[in-house]
Parts: sequence; structure tokens; C-alpha cells
Amino acid sequence: MKTTILHVDINSYFATILQQENPHLRHKPVGVIKDEGRTCLIATSKEAKQLGIGTGSNVYEAREIFPEIILIPASFDRYLDATKKLKKIFESISPDVYIYSLDEAFINISHCQKFIYPQAEQLGQQIQQKIKQELGSWVTANVGIGNNRLLAKIASEIAAKGSVLEINQDNLDGILASIEFKDVCGVGYQLTKKLQRLNVTHPYQLRFFTAEELGVLVGPFWANELLKIAYGQEPHLLTLLEKPSSHMKSIGRSITGFRLYDREDEIKSILFNLCSEVIDKTRKMKLAGRQITINLYGQNQAFHDHITLKYFIEHLDEMFIWVKKLYQHWNKDFKIIKFAIRLSLLEPNDQKPLLPSWHKQEKIQTALDKINAKYGLFTLHPASIMKQHLIRPEVTGFLGDRDYQLGN
Ligand SMILES: [Mg+2]
Repeated sequence: MKTTILHVDINSYFATILQQENPHLRHKPVGVIKDEGRTCLIATSKEAKQLGIGTGSNVYEAREIFPEIILIPASFDRYLDATKKLKKIFESISPDVYIYSLDEAFINISHCQKFIYPQAEQLGQQIQQKIKQELGSWVTANVGIGNNRLLAKIASEIAAKGSVLEINQDNLDGILASIEFKDVCGVGYQLTKKLQRLNVTHPYQLRFFTAEELGVLVGPFWANELLKIAYGQEPHLLTLLEKPSSHMKSIGRSITGFRLYDREDEIKSILFNLCSEVIDKTRKMKLAGRQITINLYGQNQAFHDHITLKYFIEHLDEMFIWVKKLYQHWNKDFKIIKFAIRLSLLEPNDQKPLLPSWHKQEKIQTALDKINAKYGLFTLHPASIMKQHLIRPEVTGFLGDRDYQLGN
């Protein structure tokens, strides 16, 4: 059976959704920032990109190029709503859908195409139309088609904005000889740099090397991955997407402050705030974990510590007790700009023994969950974080916590 995969990627997602809702922003260079006062552009509109203002630029660079650039704080709730609509569209086409990030998905139509979708390219156009109907006429998408996920993703990457492109046996070699590694999913900056030492910049060039030769430079794992890419085959890392992990292995949360922190009450309050979110996510996914990690970052220094327990935890108070203990190991020799905590070694929470003393805690926590689920996280929260600006849960572009955000 012939495998056919579609990769759909919305153009300039964060900026496009804002332009869809606010017509006065259309046809204008727009930069999306995380929050008021932030200087990094986490997304830019297609008009800004045309001027050379890309994702990751900072406000000062952007203003040098175009002083009137419009800056808008991101609206993560809106993006998540739009992603849920996209997910529905994709799942109406095939049951085999993998949401890769907020605005990207792989749709495997191999099992349904013969009767329902004779032409993958036509289907691609239909998807583009459906997206416009559901999300608005300003929203355009690229659709890539290939016989595996690598080729589908490359196709959508190099397609002209708002178009459909199929990679097949006829154009495969030409495309692999013309694209650069930065266009290839999974090949990061460091690997691209290493390959430059061999004067290799295009995937096709790798066909002239053996696995051993490449292995000396990048190690055996990447040598094999790269050779697969050179022939347009799916690398192992993308094949892994096929096997849905039974559950997430860890849940973490980090926040970068607007200033440096050194007051203990403030620091503890922020840590508690982060614990609340991690526990809320952990419980919603019906998991429990037994490794707790804390990372504190100063301007040039960092502190990391973790503890692995013999039993599982899933309550806010337990998590905070351990985070406070780890925090006590830090000798407080710098001011903190970034905080991160993580609960790892997660397992489904019906498969592990809880400490008996926590049964009461479970009842309290369950009541809290119900109220927060109905009225939003932090509706009920302890007095310790009341006076602090609350740090809200946040959707990242990568959907590391897709089970939580999309209710998969
Ligand atoms: Mg996109």
C-alpha cells in the first residue's frame, strides 16, 4: 500500500490569527511579543517577514528596519482555540492525525485515499478552503505531500506561501539537492555547523559519504539519520511520532521575571505558583511523579538540584515541600531572573501507592481541582500567593504538554 502523508502548516500563525481578528492589522508589519514590555518578537506577520523581520528578532532590530512596526502581546488562549478548530478539521479527514505543534499537523491518508481522496493535491486545496471557512479568510496554510513525514514536512516548508506541493520520485532528487539543512526538520544548528566542516550544506551531498565517515564527525546515530534524509527516507526521530507515548514523562514550568529577585518570600511565592501549575497539569492527565527538579538562574550563574523519591506524589503541598527542601540547598549567592521546576518519572496515578498520610490531602486537592476546573486555575489559591502577580498557564508553540492543552 502506498503511504501518503500531508503536512499542514499555517503561515505566520500567531500574527495571522491576530490579523484575522483585527482587520486594521492586515497588510502591515506586525510583531508579536510575549507580554507588554518584552523585547523579543516570538512571531511576526508575513509583511514583517518580507522586510526581513523574522521570529526571534528583537524590537530594536525590528525598529531599525521598520520604525512603525506594530507590537501586539500574544494571545495564547486564542491560538489554542484556533488549534482546537484545526484539529477538528484534520480529524474529519482521517483518523490518523498527529498535531506536531500549535499550527502544524501530519495527516496520514494512506488508509482512506483510494475511495474518498483520489488526488492528494486536491485534498490539500480542500483543506486550505476549510481552514479559511473555520478560521477566517485571512488565514492561509501550506500543505506538503510526500510518502513519509520527512518529505511532507520539507514540501510544506519550501512551498510558496498558501500553496500545495507534492514531493514524488520525479522531483525528489532535485529538491534534496537544492534545499539546505536549515529547511530540514530535526537537523539543528549544531549539526548543520558540523556538516559545514565537510562542505556539506544540502542533503543530497551526503550520498557521497559512508556511514563510517559521517560517524566520525557526528556519531553513529546521526550518521544513520542523515543518510536516511539524504535519500528522502524518514529518519528514526520522525518515525517515533507514530507510536504515541502512553503518557508524558515529565511536566515542568519555567518563568523569566521582569526583574531580579532576592527576597525569600517573593522567591518562595513564585516557586509555589509554578508548583500549582505543574500539579494541576499532572492531575488533569491523571499522572503522578517521583522526581522533583529545581533550576534557578541568575544573570551569569545557575543552581540546579533534584531529588528522586521512592514513592509518587501528586499533591501541591507535597511538591512544594520538596521544592522548598531543594531550594534550601542553594547558598543564595546570586539574584534570580529565571525559575524552573519539573516533576518527572511520571506514571499513571492509579498504578502507584500513595503514602497513607496523604489520603486526607487527596480529598482537599480533589475539591480544589473541581473549583479550579470550573472557574479557572488559581480561583482558589493559598494566601501565600495572593499578593503576588499570578503566573498563568501558558501555551508554547511546541505543545510539549499537548495532552493537557488539547485533551488528547
Ligand atoms: Mg507555521
